[in-house]
Amino acid sequence: MSELLDLTAAQTAASLRAGEVSTDELFDHSRARAANDDLGAFLWVAEDAPPPVSAQAPLAGVPLAVKDIFCAEGVPSTSGSRILEGYRPAYTATVVERLAAAGAPMVGKTNMDEFAMGSSNENSAYGPVRNPWDRERVPGGSSGGSAAAVAAGIAPWAIGTDTGGSIRQPASLCGLVGLKPTYGSVSRYGMIAFASSLDQAGPITRDVTDAALLFRHMVGRDPCDSTSLDHPEEIELPQADRLDGLRFGVPPELSGEGIEPGVLTVLKDVLGRVEHLGGTVNETRLPHSPHGLSAYYVLAPAEASANLARYDGVRYGLRAGNGDLLSMYEHTRAEGFGDEVKRRIMLGTYALSSGYYDAYYGRAQRVRTKIVADFASAFESCDFVITPTSPSVAFRIGERTGDPLAMYLSDYCAVPASLAGLPAISIPGGLSEGLPVGIQLVGPAFSENRLLQAAHALEGAIAFPTGPPPT
Ligand code: GLN
Repeated sequence: MSELLDLTAAQTAASLRAGEVSTDELFDHSRARAANDDLGAFLWVAEDAPPPVSAQAPLAGVPLAVKDIFCAEGVPSTSGSRILEGYRPAYTATVVERLAAAGAPMVGKTNMDEFAMGSSNENSAYGPVRNPWDRERVPGGSSGGSAAAVAAGIAPWAIGTDTGGSIRQPASLCGLVGLKPTYGSVSRYGMIAFASSLDQAGPITRDVTDAALLFRHMVGRDPCDSTSLDHPEEIELPQADRLDGLRFGVPPELSGEGIEPGVLTVLKDVLGRVEHLGGTVNETRLPHSPHGLSAYYVLAPAEASANLARYDGVRYGLRAGNGDLLSMYEHTRAEGFGDEVKRRIMLGTYALSSGYYDAYYGRAQRVRTKIVADFASAFESCDFVITPTSPSVAFRIGERTGDPLAMYLSDYCAVPASLAGLPAISIPGGLSEGLPVGIQLVGPAFSENRLLQAAHALEGAIAFPTGPPPT
């Protein structure tokens, strides 16, 4: 039974269909593992078995770990924050509902950086998460619990959210596949908002096939989210094992200075494999991408400051203060939000204030437009942009907590695709210092099918083990 959870979800589904194990047994096993997890990956574990799921359902009853940013009816949903302690939503996020309907029942809610602000999971109000590759190191963030749960074999697959790297970077640090879809292709309804023009849900899985499987049941327009739209293509399961005729662009801006040498070595190795599989590799400039982080850290806090105004002690979770209205507002927010969230609210409020709006928010929006244009011109001469996902391997717990700027740099390579709303996937490219290194592919809007095909072919050539980390 234990070995079952070390398989990919598609392999597990095959065992379920063959009747080697029942959906109930598998769910119970995953639930027991989650309840005994000593990585800190889970904030809540399902108490009861789900309504019976048929192994013939599209996702066969393979249990799913769900980042705690997704609302689920009657289930604690905290977004990693003290301010939502005790909040049990009256409704379920569209993606969670769709995946459950397709046969992937929620086994638990995973730990995360508070309101998805962070790159290490250390900003969670409920404690850090340990990386199963090295328990003294972070799993990445903000979807750190989801990544650790899959890497440790507690759940066969998981969903997370990515605003500026939070699916791709933890996938990279934990040796997994993470897909951030095209903005708008997945409903945000029931996802606790951080920065609404960037937030997007996606899969964190052991391999590319699993990512395609989950994604195909997440996509599509949802009347409850006016920014969602139907994907122009049916999502296929990738089969490609060659890259003939495909052009890969390497932007020097995201693959040189500031990237660890061991990460660059893995990138070089993967580029060699691209050519071996029939693809071509060329330099592609993304001249404004070095300004991505600066723009992101104006825009995301600006949107967050507006989105988080709703937590005032009246409607959700925590209520503090002496009963007087102003004291309730002040104390609820002072006690309920952690330091990073307060920092972002202050930054965002400042950037949006009337005297500074143009100098900060307006300018950051113009940089965002430049980055969109950079990608558009890059895709005239290449099919995909390829970069490291993260400038470094998993860092030590505590190493970057004292220096927010060092922490922000973790998403240097991930943020440009977020600002441009483009789909991007991280796949394990190899190891450096015995730790996983993720490689990111970015494609044009709605190119998920082609992105998954290319990632599948590369994955086959890289042959990174999909089982649990070596002990
Ligand atoms: N690490 C980035 C941040 O702190 C990205 C987070 C995310 O994608 N949710 O904002």
